[in-house]
Amino acid sequence: MNKFITECENRLQDKYRLIDENAYFNQVKVLNAFKNQRISLRHFNGTTGYGYDDEGRDGLGKLYAEAFGAECGIVSPHILSGTHALTVALFGLLRPKDTLLCISGMPYDTLRPVIFGEGNGSLKDYGINFDCCDLTDGDFDYATVKSKIDASVKIVYIQRSRGYELRDAFSCAQIEKMCLFLREEGFNGCIFVDNCYGEFVETREPTEVGADVIVGSLIKNAGGGLAQNGGYICGKAKYINLIGNRLTTPSTGLEVGAYPLGYQYLYQGLFLAPHTVAQALKCSILIGYAMSQLGYKNYPSLDKTPYDITRAIKFDSADKMIEFIREIQYASPIDSFVTCEAWDMPGYDEKIIMAAGTFVSGSSVELSADGPIKPPYIAYFQGGLTYEHGKYALERILNKLR
Ligand SMILES: *Cc1c(COP(=O)(O)O)cnc(C)c1O
Repeated sequence: MNKFITECENRLQDKYRLIDENAYFNQVKVLNAFKNQRISLRHFNGTTGYGYDDEGRDGLGKLYAEAFGAECGIVSPHILSGTHALTVALFGLLRPKDTLLCISGMPYDTLRPVIFGEGNGSLKDYGINFDCCDLTDGDFDYATVKSKIDASVKIVYIQRSRGYELRDAFSCAQIEKMCLFLREEGFNGCIFVDNCYGEFVETREPTEVGADVIVGSLIKNAGGGLAQNGGYICGKAKYINLIGNRLTTPSTGLEVGAYPLGYQYLYQGLFLAPHTVAQALKCSILIGYAMSQLGYKNYPSLDKTPYDITRAIKFDSADKMIEFIREIQYASPIDSFVTCEAWDMPGYDEKIIMAAGTFVSGSSVELSADGPIKPPYIAYFQGGLTYEHGKYALERILNKLR
């Protein structure tokens, strides 16, 4: 065993214990939701045609809603990705002349064409306005937020995780404070959180601290590594129903939607998610600590509590960044023989290099790393279904970089 890694692990024991305690809390929360919703084997069955009275679909929505402290939920394999879930939710809630105000800086790259693309069917094409507040010192800019809240603002949008930015994720305490502030300022529209990578990292979700709607992908945290695709949207009933009308049709709402293959993996994935997230968090702090010992700056800093499963690692050259990402791929169970190259990924402006040797294609709750090839050469690393996998990847990375 690599002595350096053992030393790192010894230094991280207190942090691992906190992660385990958090996972235990969330495991109990999820099990209570299964119990209260009386989930049985029959919920796994698929249906056909319109899918009226599809108990699996309805049960899943209620289960997620309860686990996330929300009134209602949509959980569906017909939601194709996180971006799709966010898009459906925004189009469901916004109307011409409304304003979408994003207060966590520019939204995630793939959302930008959705919000203000030209002539591509964006929100902008439908006459929906967009405004944005940058962060100050990594926190919300309260004064600017206050100055931009007016009657046209129907959604205040918060992205919890960093995306391809260098800032840290928002904690639920920060989100709670902002929700209180918005209500004190008289905002009575929808507080909307892109919850990607944040699920089960803390004991509370944004919907438990004042957010009206949260949205995420099932091939990240919430699917526990088992969901094969899909997304979720949870929140206040009045909003979820409007979004349901957009996901299907205004005449059918959440009454339809068959999925013949059945739902076992979506249920089982939620059951596993608290544990999977703990594994990913441990991989993140182990690799982060080891890289910082080697002199590579990375975020969130090791003396802070992480509020999502991602880690941004800064390299001094494109070559080193590419070597790191390639080792993640070589350490993967799937396509371990493949050498990663940068490519023009749909939805992104720059060339992206991505390691994802994953069982579920593109799943980033599995060990994965990616980033745009441009200075300051930052690799965004996340996931790991097992701690051991992250440790093995680290061993390879150390052999390569040292
Ligand atoms: C991944 C991600 C998305 C988009 O999810 P996809 O499933 O990749 O479409 C949106 N926002 C954030 C913060 C993300 O990390």
